Order: sequence, then C-alpha cells, then structure tokens
Amino acid sequence: MGGYILVRLLFIVFIPLLAFAQCEDVKCLKAPSEIKLDGHERRESILTDLGPVTFRWSRSVDGLFSKTPQYAVREAASLVARLLRDNGERVQNDWDIVMLDEKLPPREVPIKLISNCHPGWMVPPGKIYLVAQRIISGCSGVREARTKIGDTLLTEVLVHEFAHGVEFHLLGNRQNPSVEEAEGFATWFSEMALKKREGTFAVSKKLLCQELEKSAVSFDSTAIGYTFASGVYHVVRRSKGARGVFEILNNMSKQGGNFTGHALKKLSITEAKLIKEIQKVFCS
Ligand SMILES: [Zn+2]
Repeated sequence: MGGYILVRLLFIVFIPLLAFAQCEDVKCLKAPSEIKLDGHERRESILTDLGPVTFRWSRSVDGLFSKTPQYAVREAASLVARLLRDNGERVQNDWDIVMLDEKLPPREVPIKLISNCHPGWMVPPGKIYLVAQRIISGCSGVREARTKIGDTLLTEVLVHEFAHGVEFHLLGNRQNPSVEEAEGFATWFSEMALKKREGTFAVSKKLLCQELEKSAVSFDSTAIGYTFASGVYHVVRRSKGARGVFEILNNMSKQGGNFTGHALKKLSITEAKLIKEIQKVFCS
C-alpha cells in the first residue's frame, strides 16, 4: 500500500514537473510567431521601411504605452531605414516580432533570458522578442502606465534590436562572433538613429566617464558596458563619418575580421590610442 501511494505520488508529481520543465538552452526558444500569449492576442502584419513585419502582442500590455505598439514598430523601422539611407545602405528583411508580458512562458523562453532583465533580444535574421514591462521599468517593478518615457524606451529598444538585424544583414556570410562588438554597434546605431534623444544615452555616458577616470573598464551586459562597447564606433565616426562605420562593415563582409581590427587599420592608430580616443568621446 505504501509503495502504491509512493508510486501514485511520484506519478502525480512527475506530470506537473514535466509540464513546468524549464527551457535551459537558447535552442528551445520558440519563434516569435509560435510563442503562446496569455489571454487575448493581437496580431498585425505591417509593411515598414525595413520590409514586412509580423507583430503579435498580448492585450495585457496594451495600456502600458500611449502609442499603439504597431505605431512604435513603424516609427522605429523608419528611423533605422533613414540612417541607412543617409549612408548609402538599404536593408529589406522579413521581421517576426512578439511583445511578451513579464510573465514569460518558462517552456518557450530559456531560463537565462527569464532571469536576467533584458528588455528585448534578437535572433538573426529577423526574430525580435520584447518584454513590455521590462522596457518601462527594468526589474524594479516601479512603473507608470501611458507615459512618454515608456514610449521613448519602446522606440529605443526596437531600434536597438533592428540594429542587430542590420549588422547581421550587412555582414552576410562573414558574421562577427563578438558579443561586445554586436552590442556596441547596436548601441551606437540607436544613438545615431534617434539623434541622441536625451535620456539613457546621456546618463550612461556620464557614468561610463566616471568609471573610465577611476580604472580600466571592461564590457559587461549593463548600460555602461554597452556604452563602452559603442566607443570604437563613435571614434570611427568622429574621424570618418558614419559612412566610415558602414565602410568597415562592408569590408568585414568581404574579408572577415572584427570591427576593432579594421578600425585600427583605417584610422592608423594603436589600441592604446584608441582607448584614449574612446575616453575623449565620452568625457569631453
Ligand atoms: Zn543588444
């Protein structure tokens, strides 16, 4: 009898455990169009300046922004396309975007992405995942609905994720495996596309400058780390214009190699000089 109860208990426990088994690996991340959304789902197919976008979101996040999510997607795509156009580039892609509620489905989203506070992530060539509440307040839990801040941040996160797709597209068969350079490019690109709207960029630059004055800074996944990683792109732009950045990406797509290596060659400077130039970008 005892054994029977134990087996029954095991059986009963086993099923919920299976049902809630968490997804450990990025490979189990479902496509944006396949992730289950709680409650009422909204879906739109939009034609943007970067190509067609399929966009889904849960109705539960509707009240968090004052712009409609589809307006934000169209606006972000046109800001990205404009910066590309101004520099003689064009990217057309199919984009699959989902805006999730903060209660992320544990079987469909890797545990690593659930436990950190990233407001969005991108899987090339065109899958974008956004977490509505994290866009507004990170993990602080403090949020004000329908604020302009929320709208600005939504556009910023969308532009950043589109920028990852742009880099992937421009590099073609010669992808750069450096996470630091990918985040640096997306951070730099967003700042250019948004014409340095006041806010997160200015704050993280100031903090980064304080860090740089104290000691050497290394890349991490904070806003300061991302800003630091964007330094090399700013340095190239200061001396060769934004076009110089795209020229390097085009060279990388033909010859391989990383951005910093190409930049040092293009600017004929040493690594030590580059660090000094990065400091000038953020501290003067
Ligand atoms: Zn990123």
